[in-house]
Order: sequence, then structure tokens, then C-alpha cells
Amino acid sequence: MSLTDTGFFMDVFDDPPKSLVRYVINRYIPFHVAARQADIELPPYEGSCFCPFHANTDTPAAKLYRDDDGDSIYCFAEQRSYRPFDLFRLAMIRKDPTTVFLRIWLQLSASKREQAVQETNAVHDHNPLGWDELQRVLHLYKDGTVQYINICEALLQLQPNRSGLTAMFTSTTSQPLI
Ligand SMILES: [Zn+2]
Repeated sequence: MSLTDTGFFMDVFDDPPKSLVRYVINRYIPFHVAARQADIELPPYEGSCFCPFHANTDTPAAKLYRDDDGDSIYCFAEQRSYRPFDLFRLAMIRKDPTTVFLRIWLQLSASKREQAVQETNAVHDHNPLGWDELQRVLHLYKDGTVQYINICEALLQLQPNRSGLTAMFTSTTSQPLI
């Protein structure tokens, strides 16, 4: 598959995986910028604020943070954290997240795209080949039906899953964009 193949663009851009859309929005849109789209003003990083995600009016219950993965708001009342994508998920921003994703995606370098694809695949999309078999063996081991050695054998059978997007993106990143 090469980048001159129109099918490549259509496949990727018509229907990008949800995990990739979420990852890119969370990582590359500062919370301030996203929140402004929802008419919410946020404090500077490490600053306290009223939690935009629950009815919080008396004492500021939340704090805004920034790290390598992007921004987050931790709500001490709810004891959970929120990411910029939550503004889309909860329809506080009425824009199509896929459209926003594409705008960011087109500006990302090949290495950042590859990183995004690999990290989302690693977490959400692709188990290694042989994973289902390993799960089956683990189950049998708990029942006492198979030995520990069978788990080791199943582990040794695991192989990286090169199908799907990872393979497509990896095969193209060494080529010029146009
Ligand atoms: Zn909250």
C-alpha cells in the first residue's frame, strides 16, 4: 500500500478509529482551547476551578493539569479526571470530533502520527496474535485442567499483530507525503 493509493486516504479519513480520534484530541488540544468552545473559562495550569462537569458552584472542586499526554482536569468532589475529549463526548461542544481530529491530524508529522496509531493500538485496538488462546489456557489453568508449562507455551506463541492500521501507517511513514 502506498500513499498514492487513493484507497488508503479514503479508508483512514472516512472512518478513523474512535480510539485514535480521542487520543489525538486529548493530546493535542489544550483544555483551555476546547473549553472556550463550550463557553467555559479555565484557570492557568495547576489552578483551581469550578468543575465544568458537575453542578459545582460553592467551592472550586477541580484543578487543571498538563502533562506529556495532554491536559486533564481532576475533580476532587467526583474523584475522577476529565480530558478535553469529554467535552465532545458529553455534547458540551457541538462539533463533530472526527472533523476536529482531521484538522489536527493533517498538521501532525509522520512520526507523531505513527506514535498516535501505535499508542492507541497498544491500548485499545489490537491484541497480539495468539491472545485468545492465551486467555483460554489461563482459564483452564485456573480450573486446574492444564499445567503452568502450558501457559508458558501459549506465551511463547504470542506474536505482534501487524494487521490493520499499524501496518498501513508503518508502511507509509518512510515515504514522502506527496
Ligand atoms: Zn466534578
